[in-house]
Amino acid sequence: MLCTFSRVVGNKQWLFETHSSRVIHGSVTGLRCIHARATEFLQNNNQDWTDSQKTIREAITKICSRFPEEYWVIRDETKEFPHELHKALAQDGWLGICMPTKYGGSNLGIAEAAVMMQTISESGGGMTAASSVHMNIFGLEPVVKFGTHEQKQQWLVPLIAGKEKACFGVTEPNTGLDTLRLQSYARRDGDHYVLSGQKIWISTAQNAQKILILVRTTPLNEVKKPSHGLSLFYTDIDPSVVEITEIPKMGRAAVDSNSLFFDNWRVPAWHLIGQENEGFKMILHGMNAERILIAAEALGLGYAALRRAAIYANERRVFGQLIGKNQAIQHPLADSWMKLEAARLVVYHAARLYDQGHTGGEYANAAKYLAAEAAFESCERAILVHGGMGYAREYHVERYLREVFIPRIAPVSRDMICNYIGERILGLPKSY
Ligand SMILES: Cc1cc2nc3c(=O)[nH]c(=O)nc-3n(C[C@H](O)[C@H](O)[C@H](O)COP(=O)(O)OP(=O)(O)OC[C@H]3O[C@@H](n4cnc5c(N)ncnc54)[C@H](O)[C@@H]3O)c2cc1C
Repeated sequence: MLCTFSRVVGNKQWLFETHSSRVIHGSVTGLRCIHARATEFLQNNNQDWTDSQKTIREAITKICSRFPEEYWVIRDETKEFPHELHKALAQDGWLGICMPTKYGGSNLGIAEAAVMMQTISESGGGMTAASSVHMNIFGLEPVVKFGTHEQKQQWLVPLIAGKEKACFGVTEPNTGLDTLRLQSYARRDGDHYVLSGQKIWISTAQNAQKILILVRTTPLNEVKKPSHGLSLFYTDIDPSVVEITEIPKMGRAAVDSNSLFFDNWRVPAWHLIGQENEGFKMILHGMNAERILIAAEALGLGYAALRRAAIYANERRVFGQLIGKNQAIQHPLADSWMKLEAARLVVYHAARLYDQGHTGGEYANAAKYLAAEAAFESCERAILVHGGMGYAREYHVERYLREVFIPRIAPVSRDMICNYIGERILGLPKSY
C-alpha cells in the first residue's frame, strides 16, 4: 500500500512516499532532489555491521543531519573551516572515539571510527567534513602508543575535548612519497631541539594549534637504514617561526592545505615522542589506520554520489520517459553499487584485522585503493547521469568529484599501493 509521511532532515521538512515499510522515494517540497531506496539517506541496514557500528551510524547521522548539503556548499564557497561540525562532534565525545578512556576517549576501534568517517562523508559533507576531524581521530596514535602519561594528559585531553586541533606534517616538497629521504632536520640544543626545513600539503595548519611532525635527527649517511634517524615531535605551531602559506587547490576549499617553512624553530625536548631516531617506526603505527579511515571517507562520497545519481535518474524525464529506464544509465549505477559494496567489505575487513592487532598493510592498502577507485567512478558517473546539471553546483556532484581525487592521491598514491602489493604479496622485485 502506498502512503506518504514527512520527516525533518537537516532543517527541512521532507515528504516521503513508502510502499509497505520501504521508502520508494521522497522529495523536499519544491525541490527536485529526493532520498530513496538503496539510496535512502544514510541507511543503516548493513547486515555485516555490529550493533555498536549501527549505533555509531545512527548517532553520527543525527549530528550530520544538522549540517545539510547547503552548509557544505557555502563552506566550499567561503572557504571557512567547518568549526561547527568539529564542535558538535567534540561536544558529544566523538573526537575521542579511538582514544583511551583514561584521557576522555571511548577506546573503540578503527572499525567503529571507519563507520563514523564514512557517515560524515556520506552525509554530503564529503572530504571537507571528514578532513576537518580526520587527523584528530587517528593521528595521535603514536602518542597513545609511545607517549608518556604526562604527554597524553597534556595533549590528548584538549584534543578530545575539541579545545585544540592537530595537523600532521610528513610530506616535503623535495622528496614527496620518498618519506625516508625527507630533509627537515632537528638538532639537540640543551633542553630544546632546533628544527629547520619545510613541509607541504599540511592540512588544517591554518586552524590547528598543534602539529605532529616527522624530521631527521641523524643524517642519512650516518644511519644503517634510511628508516633510522627520523624523530617524531608533537608541538605547538608557533606562527612567529613557522611560515604557513595556503595552497590554492581544486576542492575541499574549507579545509586548508599549506606549505610550511621553518628555521631555528625551538621545540622543547619533552615534545619528542618516544625515542630519538625511532620516529618512523612510530608513525607506521598510524599509517594503516589512516588508510582505512580515508578509504571509509571515500566510500561515503561514492555512496553519496550514487544516491544522488539514482534519485535524479528516477526523476528526470527525457524522450517521454525516465532516464533511469535506459540501461546506459541504469547499468553503470548498478555496477558502481557492486564495486562500492565490494570495496566496503574490504574496508571493514581491514578495520577488523587492524583492531585484532594485525600489523601487515596489505588489507589497509587494498581498502584505500579499492574504495578510492570505486568512489571516483561513482562520482564521475553521477555527473554524467545528471547531464548538464551534473556540472551545476546545485546538484553537488561536481563538488564530490573535485573532492574524491583526494583519497586517490593521499596519503599514498595508487602506484605506491601497487608497488607494496607487488613486492610484499606477490614477491616481485622492487622497481625503484
Ligand atoms: C588535499 C591533500 C591533503 C594532504 N594532506 C596532507 C597532510 O595533512 N600531511 C602530509 O604530510 N601530507 C599531506 N598530503 C600529501 C600527500 O600525502 C602527498 O601528496 C602524497 O603522498 C603524494 O606525494 P607527492 O604529492 O609528493 O607525489 P610524488 O611523490 O611527487 O609522486 C608523483 C607521482 O609519481 C608517482 N610515483 C612516484 N614514485 C613512484 C614509484 N616508485 N613507482 C610508481 N609511481 C611513483 C606517484 O604515485 C604519483 O602519482 C596531502 C595531499 C593532498 C592533495
